[in-house]
Amino acid sequence: MDTQVLIVGAGPVGLTLAIDLGRRGIRCILIEQKEAPQFLPKMERCNARTMEIYRRLGIAQQIRDAGFPRDVPMDVFIVTSLIEPPLLHLPYPSVAQAQAETAACNDGSLPLEPYQLISQYTLEPLLKSVAESLPSVEVRYGCEFLSFTQGPDGVHTTAKTGGTASPLSAHYLVGCDGGSSAVRRQLGIKLQGEANLLQLRQALYRCDDLFERIPIGKGRHYHVADDRATFLIVQDSTRHFTLHSVVESDADMAAMFEKTVALPVDYQMLYVGKWQQNLLLAESYQQGRVFLAGDAVHLVIPTGGLGMNSGVGDAIDLSWKLAATLQGWGGPNLLRSYEIERRQIGARNVEASRQASRGRRAWRAAWRSDIRDDTPAGAEARANLARIANVEQRKSNEMIGAELGYRYRHSPLIWPDDREGPADDFMRYVPTSWPGARLPHVWLRGGSALHDHVGDGYTLLRLAGARPDAAALAQAFARLGAPFATLDVPEYHPRDVYGYDLLLLRPDLHVVWRGNQLLSVDPRQLAALATGHPSTW
Ligand SMILES: Cc1cc2nc3c(=O)[nH]c(=O)nc-3n(C[C@H](O)[C@H](O)[C@H](O)COP(=O)(O)OP(=O)(O)OC[C@H]3O[C@@H](n4cnc5c(N)ncnc54)[C@H](O)[C@@H]3O)c2cc1C
Repeated sequence: MDTQVLIVGAGPVGLTLAIDLGRRGIRCILIEQKEAPQFLPKMERCNARTMEIYRRLGIAQQIRDAGFPRDVPMDVFIVTSLIEPPLLHLPYPSVAQAQAETAACNDGSLPLEPYQLISQYTLEPLLKSVAESLPSVEVRYGCEFLSFTQGPDGVHTTAKTGGTASPLSAHYLVGCDGGSSAVRRQLGIKLQGEANLLQLRQALYRCDDLFERIPIGKGRHYHVADDRATFLIVQDSTRHFTLHSVVESDADMAAMFEKTVALPVDYQMLYVGKWQQNLLLAESYQQGRVFLAGDAVHLVIPTGGLGMNSGVGDAIDLSWKLAATLQGWGGPNLLRSYEIERRQIGARNVEASRQASRGRRAWRAAWRSDIRDDTPAGAEARANLARIANVEQRKSNEMIGAELGYRYRHSPLIWPDDREGPADDFMRYVPTSWPGARLPHVWLRGGSALHDHVGDGYTLLRLAGARPDAAALAQAFARLGAPFATLDVPEYHPRDVYGYDLLLLRPDLHVVWRGNQLLSVDPRQLAALATGHPSTW
């Protein structure tokens, strides 16, 4: 085999997967059809969970340094233009303020890392340079995946570089090749749901002094109350902006920018393109040795920013399972669990995105042609739209439950619990250590985060002075060749938040099992289940 894992597509998902595999010492080749990362607008917000993941990869600070200034508020406005009083102003904390809130909170309800605004065209080159610095990772731009066949031992692909097609073989293939994924199409896997719900144009502008001059207040999104679904997004440099609108021609995007800004400014329109809104989910995420991740398997409306962020979650779920299987300690359920765990989250995030975009449509439906008029009827139209938006727009901006509160249900790697468990709430995060959930963040007495003490293998957390003998469990993991450690946290506070003395964590910080006595479980069963080996009981 030429490599252990072949990744197709160097978008944020393929790059994140390559970085985590590289950190785990797995050899991988990442191929990308483009000659180099492009300066084209797409996503701009890493959510809190993605930033927690990037912290574990050791790159959160690099991302913050390259992104939106830390003291600029993340406010969202609904406007008629940038110079008229906003119809609605929803304040959201800057990164600095959010970090201060996190520092002062220790009930598990806030993420360890807050969001970070960073444009995809800044993030991708950064991730590329991190991936390229890892000895076991090879990144090949200008290399297009063409086709594959798979057998019992590996996947044999054909890829084209500079007009020449050549073979490339790997133990596993992962298609991170975006919405029109060639890997998915070759697998014959269909996308299900609603396609082409709305077509918009998006343009990228450089306008150096606009941000400083916006008279109505600084923020990240300015939604225009019009019948064109227009919205302006501030990019990470604060000198670049994107505008989205339903217009007839590319040239109309210049006039729409000027109308929205309504200030005399010098600007360049650097790019105009079309894009469409979809709510789609692949019918499956895997066939044999071939896996799919990111936009290749789920396409959401960017409302709420669950596109790339869902894909980063896929990458981080798949990565340690591939590594474990290639290192020989992962059982057959490990790779099988990828689709079980991540497809349900894909479906959940498609639903969260649907709710958010319905909210957006609800306040836009209140638009009336006299909304800018200086008349009692105009004032009434503005007030009515603002009243609806004050509820409905929040569904896009306040998705902390969708971001942090997901839980892997019915996974063969998670200790079964017959009870229903906490209900899904996209807009509210209630910390829980329910099996399958992400471990809530708590600070320890010395000021460090408990998350930062958890290593890359399995960890038995012993809290509040509990010290049951973990030798049998350690031995069970050792017999399987799986990495295992105990972490003793004598403090009582984490125990209060998690509700149990003992938690077994997976490499991705999700809870496998929790309890107050190790004697209540057979250590061999627990280790076998966590590592994906079929049940022996
Ligand atoms: C306007 C807009 C705003 C958005 N805002 C957000 C946001 O704020 N937050 C968020 O989370 N998401 C957002 N998204 C969604 C986000 O951009 C996507 O979800 C994200 O790019 C998906 O990443 P990916 O790596 O899966 O796929 P992509 O970014 O599409 O990358 C796929 C890569 O595969 C390459 N490729 C394709 N075919 C081949 C082949 N045959 N051989 C080799 N390489 C190939 C492509 O060139 C590409 O580089 C937004 C999207 C849009 C359109």
